[in-house]
Amino acid sequence: MHKLISENVRRVQLVRQEWKKSSYAISRARVLAWPGICVVIGAVVWGVTVTRIEAERSLLNDAALQEAGSLAKAYSAQLTRSVEQLDQITLNLQYFWETAGGLNLEEQMRRGLYAKSSQLRVTLFDSRGHLSQSTSLRVGDIYIHDRDWFQQHMMGRVDGLRINKPEIALQSDAKVVRFTRSLADRNRSFAGVISVIVEPQYLASFTDQESLSRNDFIALYRNDGEMLASKSGKGTVDASSMFTTLPAFQGTSGSMPLSGSWFPDSEPRVVAWHAVEGYPLLSVVGLSEQAYLEPFKSMREDYLRFAFAASAFLIFTAVFGMAFTAGLAWRKKQAEELRKAYHLAIDGAREGFYMVRAIYDGRSNLIDFALVDCNERGASLVGTTKDRLIGTRFSQLFTGNEASRAFAVFQNAMEAGFYEAEMKVPPENPLKVNWVYQKLVRSGNGLAITVRDISETKEHEETLASVANSDELTSLPNRHWLMHYLPLAVEKARVTGSMLAVMFVDLDDFKIINDTLGHAAGDELLQAAAGRIRSVVRPTDHVVRLGGDEFTVILEQVTSSDDVVRVADRIISTLHEPFLIAGGSSHVVYGSVGVSLFPEDGADAKTLLKHADIAMYAAKGSGKRHYCFFEERLSERLLSRMKNEKALQQAITFDEFELYYQPRVDTYSGELRSMEALVRWRHPERGMVPPMDFIPIAEETGLIVALGELVARKACRQLAAWKAAGMRVVPVSINVSPRQFSQGGLSALFASCLLETGLDSSLVEIEVTETCMMSEDSIVAEELAEIESLGIKLLVDDFGTGYSSLAQLQRLDMDVLKIDKAFTAQLDDSKEGEALVMAVISMAHVLGMSVVAEGVETRQQLQVLQALSCNEVQGYLISRPVPAEEVPHILDRRFLFTPAASARDEEFVR
Ligand code: C2E
Ligand code: MG
Ligand code: MG
Repeated sequence: MHKLISENVRRVQLVRQEWKKSSYAISRARVLAWPGICVVIGAVVWGVTVTRIEAERSLLNDAALQEAGSLAKAYSAQLTRSVEQLDQITLNLQYFWETAGGLNLEEQMRRGLYAKSSQLRVTLFDSRGHLSQSTSLRVGDIYIHDRDWFQQHMMGRVDGLRINKPEIALQSDAKVVRFTRSLADRNRSFAGVISVIVEPQYLASFTDQESLSRNDFIALYRNDGEMLASKSGKGTVDASSMFTTLPAFQGTSGSMPLSGSWFPDSEPRVVAWHAVEGYPLLSVVGLSEQAYLEPFKSMREDYLRFAFAASAFLIFTAVFGMAFTAGLAWRKKQAEELRKAYHLAIDGAREGFYMVRAIYDGRSNLIDFALVDCNERGASLVGTTKDRLIGTRFSQLFTGNEASRAFAVFQNAMEAGFYEAEMKVPPENPLKVNWVYQKLVRSGNGLAITVRDISETKEHEETLASVANSDELTSLPNRHWLMHYLPLAVEKARVTGSMLAVMFVDLDDFKIINDTLGHAAGDELLQAAAGRIRSVVRPTDHVVRLGGDEFTVILEQVTSSDDVVRVADRIISTLHEPFLIAGGSSHVVYGSVGVSLFPEDGADAKTLLKHADIAMYAAKGSGKRHYCFFEERLSERLLSRMKNEKALQQAITFDEFELYYQPRVDTYSGELRSMEALVRWRHPERGMVPPMDFIPIAEETGLIVALGELVARKACRQLAAWKAAGMRVVPVSINVSPRQFSQGGLSALFASCLLETGLDSSLVEIEVTETCMMSEDSIVAEELAEIESLGIKLLVDDFGTGYSSLAQLQRLDMDVLKIDKAFTAQLDDSKEGEALVMAVISMAHVLGMSVVAEGVETRQQLQVLQALSCNEVQGYLISRPVPAEEVPHILDRRFLFTPAASARDEEFVR
């Protein structure tokens, strides 16, 4: 068993290790899937967000580029008109100057050709570079010959309108942009320069100004990169370049985004340019990214907020998912581990495992069980396969009586929660083995059942037990077997709720057969009795020999006490049939039967046996050939017996006994011949107790040995005392029980009594019962011989009640025969009795024995005995047993009746 368990434990551990390895990898992958998936989703969310943001940005960028482009175009168109206007003015002036041979600007101003509000200033310079006329300047000694632009005109390098780079005005600090055109005389030689100046503001005013925001700008550049005018969204006009380094403006128009490094204020912008038609000029528009991306900002924030929220959610989901999956995996792992371990344990086990589920009807009554799981071993124990067995109903597996028995066991286990027992498998049981050890444990709404095949062990045990458990003589099971079996039978009866009977059978008077015919005959009778008892019970019942002439019968599955009565009757009558033993002689014994029933007379084997024993004693007490059922009051009777035994023991210790003496007289003369010592118990409470009330107990318990010694010594001492007192004593006969003989040491006792008292052996006689004489025990024979050799007379007491024959008695050298009072009683009115007594007396005389008639109560009996030549008589007619103090009077009287001429006239002394 231990080995089996450790084997299973080792297998389970192996599986656990394997499982741990593989499941660890699986569960780790599952747990990590959560952050993995969340990272992917997060990446997608962020990817989409960033893409969307970028798309929005590039959309706005494109829009900005487009807007900048169209603004640059519109600005360029506006500039074309403005510069054309200026160009027109210079052309007109040139024309007037060349056709009219001069100009009078003052006249023109007066005539209102130049509005006062006009921002244009027209100035004429002569061929040497002196200011000759001006719409705004005072003509004086202003000389501009050294100016580069003038030099260029003078050298004839300017063709048409020249747009100069901004410069400080001649008579103010203001910055201006100058447009110049050469003047020629009639010879086409250089004659001076017409100059129109405008403030940069003039060139930087733009009708779409409102569409510019703070950091936007517009600017006008010459093709060589010189900035002429610029204006920012703030409205400030700045002469300094809008760029840190001028970018390359390719083509006539275009647009591009530029980073902050291109601009002095480090603001990134989109820049668009457009060529001013007809002039070497470029309109440039810069739109601040900050401005045009303004709507994008909040949108971007919205996107980012969403992405962050999604990320937070994903992180939470990942953590929660990991925890959840880990938990789930852990639980699953645990469950799986358990399941695997369970299956490995049960599948590899040598025991059969079954899981059954209880089935109830609508009213919650347990009606059946369904087999929900089992192992291979379990299936093979039932002789089938696991697949076939699972799903089977209890009612399909079990049939007949076995179904109700097993169902009761299952039901019991459901109620009590646990049941375990060894079981000899009945033939109707589906288990295909002989012996099983089964354990049922309630598990939820069902039972977990373990069944171990213990047939082999049991068979081995059985072989061993059959040696130790059976009685050699009768081959019946013995006491040892009973002590083992009965508790199991009681338990089984308890579980199945059935009735069980324990019967005690005692053979009455068997002892006599044993004592008279010898042990061999006794054995023969016991064997025959055992066979008879066996023959009247069912094969399933058990007959046990407890020892001696005691048998026990166990009746199981008893339905009513009537069954038990029938069996008891059968046992008594079968035993009453004469037994032919000892070479064919017929002998009759009787049986007494005591019965105790489970559960009413006892809950355990010990109590049941005790009560059956008590009942058996009661049966014996109520006369032989009876049966008796246990009752509580019987127990009381037994208790009182035990009390008596104890009291008797005490009485011996404290010598509460007295001897009464009953005379034995000559049948004819009435002369005192002897006295029989009869013991009495002077009980402190009950008064004088007769021997029949305590001698049997003393015999049964063995106390008779001590009591016998007490009586022998008392009688001898008394006799010695009378003798010492000078009385004419007669012999005293002392009753000796068979048990004192078989115990041995009796002759030694009497020898010591004689020695102690100095009495002559002829003064002591011993009365022995007939049955005692017949014993084949060598001790008895030896004792008898030794007593005889001491010179002590031997009397056969109560002759006629036993089975001895006179011939046997003679062989034993008995001196006196005492005819039992039952025979004497028959002398009154029965001729048959008379004939019987006569035969006994005649035979005894022939064999040399004298005869005493006991229990002589009437004169008629005395007369018959006189007529039959009986030697001595004893009985109430002559004298009742008397206490010691009355004996001297009898001894004195000597003749207890005087013989008369006629028997009718006999005179009795009372
Ligand atoms: P027993 O040895 O046969 O003794 C004779 C019994 O018959 C005595 O009974 C006596 O009182 C009674 N008896 C005498 N004459 C008559 C009569 O005319 N009619 C009737 N009905 N009975 C008469 P007791 O004293 O009650 O003793 C009964 C038995 O007890 C004795 O039978 C003897 O077997 C036994 N017993 C008595 N004393 C002792 C003893 O010291 N040792 C042993 N082992 N047994 C004793
Ligand atoms: Mg006697
Ligand atoms: Mg007698």
